[in-house]
Amino acid sequence: MAEGDTDIPADHPRHDSLVTRHRIEDGVEAGITSKQGLIAEGRGEAFDYLLGERTLPSADAAARAAAAHLLLARHPVISVNGNAAALVPDELVALADAVGADLEINLFNRTEERMAAIADHLRDHGASEVKGLDADARIPGLDHERAKVDADGIADADVVLVPLEDGDRAAALSDLGKAEIVIDLNPLSRSAQVADVPVVDNILRAIPNITAHARELADADRDELERIVAEFDPTAALDDAERAIRSGDL
Ligand code: ATP
Repeated sequence: MAEGDTDIPADHPRHDSLVTRHRIEDGVEAGITSKQGLIAEGRGEAFDYLLGERTLPSADAAARAAAAHLLLARHPVISVNGNAAALVPDELVALADAVGADLEINLFNRTEERMAAIADHLRDHGASEVKGLDADARIPGLDHERAKVDADGIADADVVLVPLEDGDRAAALSDLGKAEIVIDLNPLSRSAQVADVPVVDNILRAIPNITAHARELADADRDELERIVAEFDPTAALDDAERAIRSGDL
């Protein structure tokens, strides 16, 4: 548990939102998360409230499809921004280990200080290698700072997991033909809409859930993994999340 989490009882009805809020606050204080990240957090919190702070069965199926994609990948990469690093550093490292993925820092508001702070933070949480610092390749169609990626990281990846991504970048990555897994609590966001696998769930729950599915599928053969990928329907998953929000059944 990060500092500040400990006083929230596990059965508190707004437990996940409060943990998320505290971790983002700590992230801003530690120079990991930008002030913009606070706004993104507020938007996510509103959707988590509307979803009843639970993992929908359709989001669990998406997490399983995400795990299958990552296990099938030639070169899977997990993109890490300031919110993701503050919220789930241990869990990101565990997922990267479980599926053999690289971790690559990518920031909307890129500064060298924040890049270094996040790299140190991930290493403190067990990451052996952190990409994103070389920034020796570009994603076409984006402005200079947001386009920066590593040539041997996201630029080379066939499957990318982008938690809490902004819509422009998610669309540009998808245009490159990479399989894209997005974690976003808003089923209407552009990021969720362009994803091959939109996981409409709080990153706090989604990353450990993808890891659990990956561990369970570790011995599955390629045919089974390909079947899981083929059977997943992103539009149906987004529709289901939207229906859950509209039903008001918390
Ligand atoms: P769009 O994708 O529509 O362009 P945007 O670029 O405006 O959206 P941001 O303002 O960057 O999106 O917001 C980040 C997204 O991350 C929001 O859609 C929000 O719902 C989502 N989000 C925030 N916190 C979490 C969280 N803890 N878990 C999952 N999703 C979250």
